[in-house]
Formats: sequence, structure tokens, C-alpha cells
Amino acid sequence: MRHNTGDMPGTLYIVATPIGNLEDITPRALRVLREVEVIACEDTRRTRVLLNHFGIKTRTISYHEHNERESAAGLGKLLEGGKNVAMVSDAGTPLISDPGFRVVNAAIESGITVVPIPGPTAFVAALVASGLPSDQFFFAGFLPARANARRAHLEDLAAIQATLVFYEAPHRIAAALSDAVDVLGNREAAVARELTKIHEEIARGNLRELAKRFSQSTATRGEIVLLISGASESAFESTGERELSSMRLIDRVRQLERDGLDSKLALKKAARELGLKRAEAYRLIVAQKNRRSR
Ligand code: SAM
Repeated sequence: MRHNTGDMPGTLYIVATPIGNLEDITPRALRVLREVEVIACEDTRRTRVLLNHFGIKTRTISYHEHNERESAAGLGKLLEGGKNVAMVSDAGTPLISDPGFRVVNAAIESGITVVPIPGPTAFVAALVASGLPSDQFFFAGFLPARANARRAHLEDLAAIQATLVFYEAPHRIAAALSDAVDVLGNREAAVARELTKIHEEIARGNLRELAKRFSQSTATRGEIVLLISGASESAFESTGERELSSMRLIDRVRQLERDGLDSKLALKKAARELGLKRAEAYRLIVAQKNRRSR
């Protein structure tokens, strides 16, 4: 790494750190953390534990999601003054459901060189061990905490034909699984917990089985990635058939709404009358909405 005298801007390194097992840090990450002038941390105390473990003495400063704008300006000055900066988050890859986006964006706008130092990230580890298709996936970050918002969000994702990947808090996993069964139907899924740590567990099965299992374990702990297989095309033989079904469904839903049913009940009743599963009905409505907005 080139050390500057101040006439050239420094480089911003985005450094991935372990998600549990400290052996997962790469030799390149360790070298960069040792050689930069400053390490910008989400939480300096958390990162200090990692640095102490590897005997790294580099100066740390903090950046926070809540004052990331000011932090970005401060880090920008350091970089423009020729300092090389490594950015880390508490665990895994910065910017992946973690702060850092503003800092990187501001650096790019100022013409600073940005270099990724790849390494662990929980959703990739979970995906590759889940047994679910990995050729196409949709990483959706954290699910909303409130039930209504969570269900609405799942409805928005119902038509996606790629494995859905979420981060979820342990005290909400049972509720998330049960909402997922209702909204998406009984798809194949996996719950990856405490990856790379002593109590690592990857539970695989359909959503109903997993919902039952996690509703029984009252105090699920640890960090969790939830994976759900994508929507399948098999329920409908052709595009024409799908469009006909969705037109019939939408007509019937509108009629029931005019008769006074709220939209959720109307959809449920219309789906039942037309012999559709609720998840299929959701998918048809979402697909129709998407076609209209195109
Ligand atoms: N930047 C991190 C990454 O690259 O994965 C993610 C940070 S996000 C604030 C923290 C969430 O990631 C946790 O709530 C959990 O959903 C997931 N996560 C992090 N470490 C994990 C692990 N060891 N096992 C399972 N999930 C993990």
C-alpha cells in the first residue's frame, strides 16, 4: 500500500470482517487493516476486540448510521488529505444491511479510489448451505417488524421467481414464518442460525414445518437468515391461462368489495370460489399490478 505525503488523495478500503468465527478474516483484510492510517468503524469498541485479537494497533474512529452524513464529510477530508482509510462494520460486509453507503457514495463523488476487500457476509453463507436454488436470488434485507407491514412486504415479493433471502431477529422468526405461509403458500425454506459460531444450525423444510418448529422453541436466540424458495410457474400452464385467471379474480374481488367486504377478505373469498390457493391469488394480483404499472 502506498503511503501518501498529502498531495495525492488516499484510498477507501471496504473491508469485510467475520460474522462469528475469527478465522474467517482474510490475510488481505488483515494486511489492509494494519497498513491504513485510520479504520472507520460502526462501533469502535466492537472492532477493537477484533483488532486486539490480531495485534493490530491502527487508529480507529467511528461513523454511525445516524450521523453518517457528517461522518462522510469527516472521512472525505481525511481521504482528500492523503490518508488511506479502511471502513468496517460490526460484522460481515459493510453496507450489507449495515451503514456505509453514504461514505462510499461521497468518496466516489469526490473522485476517491474505492477498493472492496471481500470476505464474509451472512446471506451468502446461508444461501449456499440452504439447499435452495442459488442461480437467482433476491436479497431483501430485514423484514419489517410490524405484522401488517411484514405481510404487505411479503405480498410485494410473492411473484418473484428467485430464492428470497431475509435477515430476521430471533424473537420475530416464528411470526415471520407463519406470515410467510399465509402469504406465499407452503414453499420450501431454510432458517440459518448462528452461522460460523459454536451453535450453528441450518433448519430446512417447508414453511409450515419450520413455522411449527420455531413456534415451539419459545426463546430462539442468535442471528438468523431466513430463505424461502421463489414463486413457481407450475401452477399455471400458460401466460394466457394466467391472464384469464387474474382477470376473473380481479373482477370477483372488485364485486365483493362493492358488496362491502374489505380487500383482504374479498381476495380470500374470491380465491376460494375460483379454486386458487391464497398465495397464487396474491401472485396474480401483484403480477397484474406490475403489468399495469409498466
Ligand atoms: N453486514 C452483515 C453481513 O454482511 O451479513 C449483516 C449485518 S446486519 C446488521 C445483522 C444481521 O445479519 C443479523 O440480524 C442476522 O440476520 C444476519 N447475520 C449476521 N451474522 C449472522 C450469523 N453469524 N448467522 C446468521 N445470521 C447472521
